[in-house]
Amino acid sequence: MLGDTHRFHIGDFLCVAFCDADQRRQGANLFANAESDTVVQELKNMGQDPEALVFSISILYIRTPEHSVLIDTGLGVGMSKLPETLLMAGIELNKIDSIIITHGHGDHIGGIIGSDGKPTFPKAHYYIWKAEWDYWLEQANKADKPNEAARKNLLPIQDKVTLIEREGEILPGISAVHAPGHTVGHMAVLVESKGEALLHLVDATHHPVQMLHPEWVPGFDAKPDVSTETRWKLFGRAANDNLLVMAYHYAFPSLGHIVRSGDVFEWKPI
Ligand SMILES: [Zn+2]
Repeated sequence: MLGDTHRFHIGDFLCVAFCDADQRRQGANLFANAESDTVVQELKNMGQDPEALVFSISILYIRTPEHSVLIDTGLGVGMSKLPETLLMAGIELNKIDSIIITHGHGDHIGGIIGSDGKPTFPKAHYYIWKAEWDYWLEQANKADKPNEAARKNLLPIQDKVTLIEREGEILPGISAVHAPGHTVGHMAVLVESKGEALLHLVDATHHPVQMLHPEWVPGFDAKPDVSTETRWKLFGRAANDNLLVMAYHYAFPSLGHIVRSGDVFEWKPI
C-alpha cells in the first residue's frame, strides 16, 4: 500500500498525496484541436505509450497547525481507494475539517457522499468557486436529465459550503487561484508555509505533453480558449517562481517542477 501514498512537507505543513485510482486513456484523440498523428509522435518522443496513457487521480491532504484539509474527494463509491488509504495512513475521516472542491466533475466530487448516502467526511466544511457551484447546482436541479454526480454529492452539502468569488486565502496558508476554462469556475490551489510553496494545478492540465503544447485542449475542457490562457499563465508562474507543482491526473504522485524550454515548458517529475 506504500505505493498509494506520498508524504512531503511544505514548510510547517504535512502534505500527503493519495492515489484514489489509476486509469489508462487513449492518447491519439485526447486533444480536440490537435492532429492525432502529431499527438502520438510527441507522446512516443516522451517515452509514453499512446495506447495507454497513465491517468492517475491524486488527492492532496494537508495538515496545517489549524486544519486538516483535502483537495477534492476522488471518484467515490465503488471506484475509489481514498477512504481506505486515508484510514491506513492514520487519518480519521471525521478529523478532516475542510474540503476544497476545485470543480464539479464526478472524479472530484464523487467521494463526498458514501454508499450509505451520508457524508464520507462528517465534520467537513466545503469551499468552491461561486460560478462553479451555481453551474452544477443548476445541473443537479434540472427537471430533465439532472447531473447525477452533482445531485448526489452537492445537494446534501448545501448548508456546509463557502462560496469563493475572488483569489486569496481560504484557510491560513491555503489560497484559491482562479483557473477557469476546464470548467466555468475551475480553481487551482496555492499552499504556502515558511517560504515554501506548492501550486496545485488540478485539471488546468491533464498530461505532461501539454508542457510542450499548452495550446492542446482536451475534448472535456468546457472553454478551450480560456483553459489555454489559464495553462500558459499558470505554467509560466510555476516556472518563474520555481514552485513545486501538483497536477491531479498526472502519473502518481503527480508532483514535479515546470521549467522553461525555449518558448514552451518541460515537466520534471519528482
Ligand atoms: Zn479531473
